[in-house]
Amino acid sequence: MKIYFLGTGTSQGIPVIGSNHSVCLSSNPKDKRLRVSVWVHSEDFSLVIDCGPDFRQQMLTSGCTAIDAILFTHEHADHTAGMDDIRPFNFKLGPMPIYAHQRVLENLTKRFDYIFATENRYPGAPSVVINEVKNNEDFYIKNQKITPINVFHGDLQVFGYKINDFVYLTDVKTIASEELEKIKKCKVLVINCLREEPHQTHFNLEEALAFIKQVQPEKTYLTHISHLFGFHDEIQQKLPENVYIAYDNLEITI
Ligand SMILES: [Zn+2]
Repeated sequence: MKIYFLGTGTSQGIPVIGSNHSVCLSSNPKDKRLRVSVWVHSEDFSLVIDCGPDFRQQMLTSGCTAIDAILFTHEHADHTAGMDDIRPFNFKLGPMPIYAHQRVLENLTKRFDYIFATENRYPGAPSVVINEVKNNEDFYIKNQKITPINVFHGDLQVFGYKINDFVYLTDVKTIASEELEKIKKCKVLVINCLREEPHQTHFNLEEALAFIKQVQPEKTYLTHISHLFGFHDEIQQKLPENVYIAYDNLEITI
Protein backbone atom coordinates (compact mmCIF):
# COMPACT_ATOMS: atom_id res chain seq x y z
CA MET A 1 0.00 0.00 0.00
CA LYS A 2 1.28 3.46 -0.88
CA ILE A 3 0.53 6.75 0.81
CA TYR A 4 1.06 9.83 -1.35
CA PHE A 5 0.89 13.18 0.47
CA LEU A 6 -1.06 15.34 -1.97
CA GLY A 7 -1.03 18.35 0.36
CA THR A 8 0.34 19.07 3.84
CA GLY A 9 -0.55 22.73 4.46
CA THR A 10 -3.10 24.39 6.70
CA SER A 11 -6.20 26.13 5.33
CA GLN A 12 -4.44 28.99 3.50
CA GLY A 13 -1.67 26.81 2.08
CA ILE A 14 1.99 27.90 1.89
CA PRO A 15 2.91 30.39 0.54
CA VAL A 16 0.04 32.48 1.87
CA ILE A 17 -1.15 34.89 -0.84
CA GLY A 18 0.70 38.22 -0.58
CA SER A 19 2.82 37.15 2.40
CA ASN A 20 6.38 38.33 2.98
CA HIS A 21 6.95 35.76 5.74
CA SER A 22 10.34 34.07 5.29
CA VAL A 23 8.74 30.58 5.10
CA CYS A 24 6.35 31.81 2.37
CA LEU A 25 9.37 33.15 0.45
CA SER A 26 11.43 29.94 0.87
CA SER A 27 12.76 28.38 -2.32
CA ASN A 28 12.80 24.87 -0.80
CA PRO A 29 10.05 22.79 -2.50
CA LYS A 30 9.39 21.15 0.90
CA ASP A 31 8.20 24.55 2.16
CA LYS A 32 5.44 24.76 -0.50
CA ARG A 33 2.29 23.19 0.90
CA LEU A 34 -1.07 22.66 -0.79
CA ARG A 35 -4.17 22.01 1.33
CA VAL A 36 -4.21 18.66 3.18
CA SER A 37 -5.10 15.46 1.37
CA VAL A 38 -3.64 11.99 0.86
CA TRP A 39 -3.95 9.41 -1.89
CA VAL A 40 -3.91 5.85 -0.51
CA HIS A 41 -3.51 3.18 -3.14
CA SER A 42 -2.49 -0.40 -3.80
CA GLU A 43 -2.96 -2.87 -6.65
CA ASP A 44 -6.51 -3.42 -5.37
CA PHE A 45 -7.87 0.04 -4.55
CA SER A 46 -7.33 3.78 -4.89
CA LEU A 47 -8.85 6.32 -2.56
CA VAL A 48 -8.34 9.96 -1.70
CA ILE A 49 -9.03 11.47 1.73
CA ASP A 50 -10.57 14.97 1.40
CA CYS A 51 -11.01 17.04 -1.73
CA GLY A 52 -9.74 20.54 -1.01
CA PRO A 53 -9.31 23.55 -3.31
CA ASP A 54 -6.02 22.17 -4.72
CA PHE A 55 -7.53 18.83 -5.82
CA ARG A 56 -7.09 19.42 -9.57
CA GLN A 57 -3.41 20.34 -9.25
CA GLN A 58 -2.82 17.45 -6.85
CA MET A 59 -4.30 14.91 -9.28
CA LEU A 60 -2.14 16.26 -12.11
CA THR A 61 1.09 16.35 -10.08
CA SER A 62 0.66 12.93 -8.47
CA GLY A 63 -0.36 11.24 -11.71
CA CYS A 64 -3.48 9.79 -10.08
CA THR A 65 -5.73 8.63 -12.91
CA ALA A 66 -8.36 6.55 -11.13
CA ILE A 67 -10.15 6.84 -7.77
CA ASP A 68 -12.56 4.29 -6.29
CA ALA A 69 -13.81 6.68 -3.59
CA ILE A 70 -13.27 9.99 -1.81
CA LEU A 71 -13.45 9.88 2.01
CA PHE A 72 -14.22 13.13 3.81
CA THR A 73 -12.96 14.03 7.28
CA HIS A 74 -15.24 17.07 7.76
CA GLU A 75 -16.92 19.88 5.87
CA HIS A 76 -14.45 22.77 6.18
CA ALA A 77 -13.57 24.39 2.84
CA ASP A 78 -9.90 23.41 2.91
CA HIS A 79 -11.11 19.78 2.86
CA THR A 80 -14.05 20.04 0.41
CA ALA A 81 -13.75 23.03 -1.96
CA GLY A 82 -12.34 21.02 -4.89
CA MET A 83 -15.38 18.87 -5.55
CA ASP A 84 -16.22 20.42 -8.90
CA ASP A 85 -12.99 18.96 -10.25
CA ILE A 86 -14.10 15.33 -9.88
CA ARG A 87 -15.68 15.68 -13.34
CA PRO A 88 -12.78 14.13 -15.31
CA PHE A 89 -13.17 11.02 -13.11
CA ASN A 90 -16.95 11.05 -13.70
CA PHE A 91 -16.49 11.15 -17.48
CA LYS A 92 -14.02 8.27 -17.30
CA LEU A 93 -15.39 6.09 -14.47
CA GLY A 94 -18.95 7.27 -13.71
CA PRO A 95 -20.38 8.80 -10.51
CA MET A 96 -17.79 9.15 -7.72
CA PRO A 97 -18.53 7.25 -4.50
CA ILE A 98 -18.12 9.61 -1.55
CA TYR A 99 -18.02 8.65 2.14
CA ALA A 100 -18.74 11.08 4.96
CA HIS A 101 -20.64 11.66 8.20
CA GLN A 102 -24.36 12.44 7.65
CA ARG A 103 -23.79 16.04 8.84
CA VAL A 104 -21.01 16.49 6.27
CA LEU A 105 -23.19 15.04 3.48
CA GLU A 106 -25.94 17.54 4.37
CA ASN A 107 -23.41 20.36 4.40
CA LEU A 108 -21.97 19.33 1.01
CA THR A 109 -25.52 19.25 -0.39
CA LYS A 110 -25.83 22.95 0.52
CA ARG A 111 -22.37 23.95 -0.66
CA PHE A 112 -22.66 22.04 -3.94
CA ASP A 113 -26.42 21.95 -4.58
CA TYR A 114 -25.90 21.37 -8.32
CA ILE A 115 -23.83 18.21 -7.66
CA PHE A 116 -26.49 16.69 -5.40
CA ALA A 117 -29.53 17.88 -7.38
CA THR A 118 -31.75 15.03 -8.60
CA GLU A 119 -33.82 17.13 -11.04
CA ASN A 120 -32.92 19.56 -13.83
CA ARG A 121 -29.27 18.65 -13.61
CA TYR A 122 -26.85 20.71 -15.70
CA PRO A 123 -25.37 18.39 -18.35
CA GLY A 124 -21.82 17.47 -17.35
CA ALA A 125 -22.26 18.48 -13.69
CA PRO A 126 -20.21 16.40 -11.23
CA SER A 127 -21.97 13.28 -9.97
CA VAL A 128 -21.56 11.31 -6.76
CA VAL A 129 -22.79 8.16 -5.03
CA ILE A 130 -23.48 9.00 -1.39
CA ASN A 131 -22.31 6.73 1.45
CA GLU A 132 -22.82 7.62 5.10
CA VAL A 133 -19.99 6.90 7.54
CA LYS A 134 -21.10 6.03 11.06
CA ASN A 135 -19.01 5.89 14.19
CA ASN A 136 -18.00 2.34 15.21
CA GLU A 137 -19.04 0.94 11.81
CA ASP A 138 -16.29 -0.33 9.53
CA PHE A 139 -16.97 -0.15 5.81
CA TYR A 140 -15.36 -1.57 2.68
CA ILE A 141 -14.06 0.01 -0.49
CA LYS A 142 -13.62 -2.86 -2.91
CA ASN A 143 -12.25 -5.51 -0.49
CA GLN A 144 -10.40 -3.02 1.70
CA LYS A 145 -11.69 -2.53 5.24
CA ILE A 146 -11.79 1.07 6.49
CA THR A 147 -12.27 1.91 10.17
CA PRO A 148 -13.55 5.42 10.98
CA ILE A 149 -11.93 7.09 14.00
CA ASN A 150 -14.04 9.68 15.79
CA VAL A 151 -12.14 12.82 16.88
CA PHE A 152 -12.92 16.46 17.69
CA HIS A 153 -11.73 19.70 16.07
CA GLY A 154 -12.81 22.06 18.87
CA ASP A 155 -16.55 21.32 19.11
CA LEU A 156 -16.77 19.88 15.59
CA GLN A 157 -16.82 16.11 15.08
CA VAL A 158 -14.27 14.90 12.50
CA PHE A 159 -13.59 11.41 11.13
CA GLY A 160 -10.08 10.05 10.76
CA TYR A 161 -9.56 6.74 8.97
CA LYS A 162 -7.61 3.58 9.71
CA ILE A 163 -6.67 1.45 6.70
CA ASN A 164 -4.77 -1.69 7.73
CA ASP A 165 -1.84 -0.40 9.78
CA PHE A 166 -2.10 3.15 8.47
CA VAL A 167 -3.96 5.86 10.42
CA TYR A 168 -4.80 9.29 9.00
CA LEU A 169 -6.03 11.92 11.44
CA THR A 170 -6.33 15.61 10.62
CA ASP A 171 -7.85 18.63 12.35
CA VAL A 172 -7.73 16.88 15.74
CA LYS A 173 -7.75 18.67 19.07
CA THR A 174 -9.25 15.95 21.28
CA ILE A 175 -9.93 12.21 21.09
CA ALA A 176 -11.78 9.88 23.45
CA SER A 177 -9.82 7.03 25.05
CA GLU A 178 -11.90 4.32 23.30
CA GLU A 179 -11.03 5.82 19.91
CA LEU A 180 -7.35 6.01 20.88
CA GLU A 181 -7.45 2.28 21.66
CA LYS A 182 -8.42 1.59 18.01
CA ILE A 183 -5.18 3.10 16.67
CA LYS A 184 -2.60 2.13 19.30
CA LYS A 185 0.69 0.74 17.98
CA CYS A 186 -0.20 1.29 14.32
CA LYS A 187 2.67 1.25 11.82
CA VAL A 188 2.22 4.71 10.36
CA LEU A 189 0.32 7.59 11.94
CA VAL A 190 -0.37 10.87 10.17
CA ILE A 191 -1.43 13.60 12.58
CA ASN A 192 -2.10 17.33 12.28
CA CYS A 193 0.43 19.66 13.92
CA LEU A 194 -0.23 23.30 13.09
CA ARG A 195 2.70 25.10 14.76
CA GLU A 196 4.50 25.46 18.10
CA GLU A 197 2.09 28.08 19.51
CA PRO A 198 -1.16 26.70 20.95
CA HIS A 199 -4.34 26.89 18.83
CA GLN A 200 -7.98 26.54 19.86
CA THR A 201 -8.92 23.72 17.47
CA HIS A 202 -5.62 22.16 16.31
CA PHE A 203 -2.78 20.26 17.98
CA ASN A 204 0.37 22.29 18.41
CA LEU A 205 3.76 20.53 18.50
CA GLU A 206 3.66 19.80 22.24
CA GLU A 207 0.16 18.27 22.00
CA ALA A 208 1.02 16.27 18.88
CA LEU A 209 4.14 14.80 20.53
CA ALA A 210 2.16 13.91 23.67
CA PHE A 211 -0.47 12.22 21.46
CA ILE A 212 2.22 10.26 19.58
CA LYS A 213 3.56 8.98 22.92
CA GLN A 214 0.10 7.64 23.74
CA VAL A 215 -0.46 6.00 20.34
CA GLN A 216 3.06 4.52 20.10
CA PRO A 217 3.15 4.17 16.30
CA GLU A 218 6.29 2.90 14.56
CA LYS A 219 6.49 6.10 12.53
CA THR A 220 4.61 9.39 12.52
CA TYR A 221 4.25 12.10 9.88
CA LEU A 222 3.05 15.59 10.82
CA THR A 223 0.66 17.42 8.47
CA HIS A 224 -1.73 20.45 8.26
CA ILE A 225 1.30 22.72 8.73
CA SER A 226 1.13 26.51 9.08
CA HIS A 227 3.87 28.79 7.70
CA LEU A 228 4.20 29.96 11.33
CA PHE A 229 5.66 26.53 12.24
CA GLY A 230 8.85 27.39 10.33
CA PHE A 231 11.06 25.88 7.64
CA HIS A 232 10.75 22.16 6.86
CA ASP A 233 14.43 21.42 7.46
CA GLU A 234 14.53 23.29 10.79
CA ILE A 235 11.36 21.65 12.14
CA GLN A 236 12.68 18.18 11.22
CA GLN A 237 15.77 18.74 13.38
CA LYS A 238 13.61 19.42 16.45
CA LEU A 239 11.59 16.20 16.14
CA PRO A 240 12.24 13.00 18.08
CA GLU A 241 13.22 9.71 16.46
CA ASN A 242 10.64 8.22 14.05
CA VAL A 243 8.68 11.48 13.85
CA TYR A 244 8.87 13.26 10.50
CA ILE A 245 7.38 16.39 9.07
CA ALA A 246 5.49 15.42 5.91
CA TYR A 247 5.87 17.44 2.71
CA ASP A 248 3.92 17.64 -0.53
CA ASN A 249 4.55 14.78 -2.98
CA LEU A 250 6.21 12.57 -0.35
CA GLU A 251 5.25 8.95 -1.00
CA ILE A 252 5.71 6.17 1.52
CA THR A 253 5.11 2.43 1.25
CA ILE A 254 3.58 0.37 4.04
ZN1 LIG B 1 -8.34 21.80 7.95
